[in-house]
Amino acid sequence: AKAQQNNSYKFFDAAMHTQALNRLTLETDLRKALNQQEFVVYYQPIFDLFNHRLFGFEALVRWQHPTRGFISPDEFISIAEETGFIVPLDNWVLYNACQQIASWENQFANGSSFKISINLSAQDLRKVNLIQDVDDILADTGLAGHSLTLEITESLLIENIDQTIDLLVQLASRNIQISIDDFGTGYSSLGYLHRFPVNNLKIDRSFVDQIQSESREYHVVDTIIALGQHLGLSVIAEGVETTQQLEWLQQLRCEFGQGYLFSKPLAAAEIERRYLARLEE
Ligand code: C2E
Ligand code: CA
Ligand code: CA
Ligand code: CA
Repeated sequence: AKAQQNNSYKFFDAAMHTQALNRLTLETDLRKALNQQEFVVYYQPIFDLFNHRLFGFEALVRWQHPTRGFISPDEFISIAEETGFIVPLDNWVLYNACQQIASWENQFANGSSFKISINLSAQDLRKVNLIQDVDDILADTGLAGHSLTLEITESLLIENIDQTIDLLVQLASRNIQISIDDFGTGYSSLGYLHRFPVNNLKIDRSFVDQIQSESREYHVVDTIIALGQHLGLSVIAEGVETTQQLEWLQQLRCEFGQGYLFSKPLAAAEIERRYLARLEE
């Protein structure tokens, strides 16, 4: 028994060692990846659920690692956040996505505009030069503020209320929109949501996934939509995968949605081919 115990201890130790090593190499690789142009921005279309028109896109970063291949954001965003690398990474995503949208507007929008929604993390909101960086990127790319939406999670709102309100007011004065991501999963900010200048609520995928009638999630979605209407916010459902889910969402009068039922996140060239080229005609 003693030998066995010893062995399992060693096994555990080895596994932990591998995990730590894995993390460490990911950290080092992340830092190199930006210069070596291993990141790519993918775009997931967002649709109006009633007239089926394209409403905008969410930018989602992808990492094409030279030896490991494709690595999902779920594997590297948390490491990037812990190491602070998320700040330069998100700035890169912001620049690239704004540039892409500006170029699509020139090529395909016929004088109207597209909306691009970009994810921000806690550290992005805390950096002192966020507004300056956003201004520089809009000036450089020629994108108008009203084409840009920034997504932040509920818990970020309430971390530092007065400072966050101040920041959001500055963004709003540039006509930049704010979406609350994963709404309903974080700390309940219901009590003071009206204090923040936000524009959209994004219903978390976990609710959409279980939306069948009379489920707890159905009532949560119903409540979020009512709240949105009450506060004058648009509501976007995430992770719409089936026509049944779409029907429930339409019945609850959810205005916008994104999900595999409509489209996965796609590379820019694929977005052009499938959604933009036909707008030209
Ligand atoms: P999120 O912001 O909640 O993004 C939605 C996630 O759901 C994306 O995962 C998207 O690909 C996925 N998704 C979309 N439709 C469906 C569907 O119908 N079914 C299912 N099962 N999934 C769907 P992704 O791209 O893997 O990103 C994961 C998370 O990583 C994002 O969650 C976001 O929190 C973070 N992330 C991604 N890109 C960035 C970025 O550029 N900056 C920051 N700070 N975070 C990012
Ligand atoms: Ca998001
Ligand atoms: Ca989300
Ligand atoms: Ca999320």
